[in-house]
Amino acid sequence: MRFVSFEYNQQHLWGIEADDGIYYSEKLLSIFPTLDAVIENYDELNINEEINQHISRHDVTLIAPFRPKKNIMCIGKNYREHALEMTNQDVSQIPDHPVIFTKSPGAVIGPNTPVDAHQQTTSQLDYEGELAVVIGKQGKNIAEADALDYVFGYTLLNDITARDLQKKHQQFFRGKSLDTFAPFGPSIVTPDEIDDVHNLALQTYVNDELRQDGHTSQMIFDVRHLIATLSDGMTLEPGDIIATGTPSGVGKGFNPPKFLNPGDAVRIEIEQIGQLVNSIE
Ligand code: MG
Repeated sequence: MRFVSFEYNQQHLWGIEADDGIYYSEKLLSIFPTLDAVIENYDELNINEEINQHISRHDVTLIAPFRPKKNIMCIGKNYREHALEMTNQDVSQIPDHPVIFTKSPGAVIGPNTPVDAHQQTTSQLDYEGELAVVIGKQGKNIAEADALDYVFGYTLLNDITARDLQKKHQQFFRGKSLDTFAPFGPSIVTPDEIDDVHNLALQTYVNDELRQDGHTSQMIFDVRHLIATLSDGMTLEPGDIIATGTPSGVGKGFNPPKFLNPGDAVRIEIEQIGQLVNSIE
């Protein structure tokens, strides 16, 4: 299934995206008003039986799937060529263990919502197209072999970054967490809809120019490894989000760099999952 959240008649609703539109249930919405509540209670729900109201895709505006309760867990330098482009091709900077940082949930926005360029605060605004994992059930010390059983679904995330702040403050949090720096969504796609999450093309376009042409098979640490590592001593919970890192081709990787400016549009596409479009303003 492809779960989406959307605005309709000034209400925020959730439903299932299908070829002919979106299906939803007023009854389920009255019990579970947001998609994160659905994810937390998914085992008790019989979604297919309840979802029976239809709405045209043209009558709604897609919004972020939900506002996460906790920081988004992010993986840095998880693609070899990206690790190299960020470090002047220094192979000693390719990590032996996942590089882990977080982004504030306050930075989350949905598709088609502008990213604030924050021009008074940064002059090095950059994009990072990423596959994001949404955790579906609580787990701790999860073995790699079982890790994908803990996934509710997959979606897209643009790990927008102020490179100058990322560098200046040494830890990544501030440079990654300014308001609007976490475009997320639009569809959370359940694993049964995806052939192999480690075999998906991932592309990022800026104003239709292809910048990142990656593939999830190129991750240094795959989704199983990331879930095993993050859950080692720390409980993962439904609705937790893991952004799995970005391929090469970020703005900082070009010479001269190609940072984002107001008026630009960024489009991330991941095969079988969808696309996420945001303008810069
Ligand atoms: Mg990133």
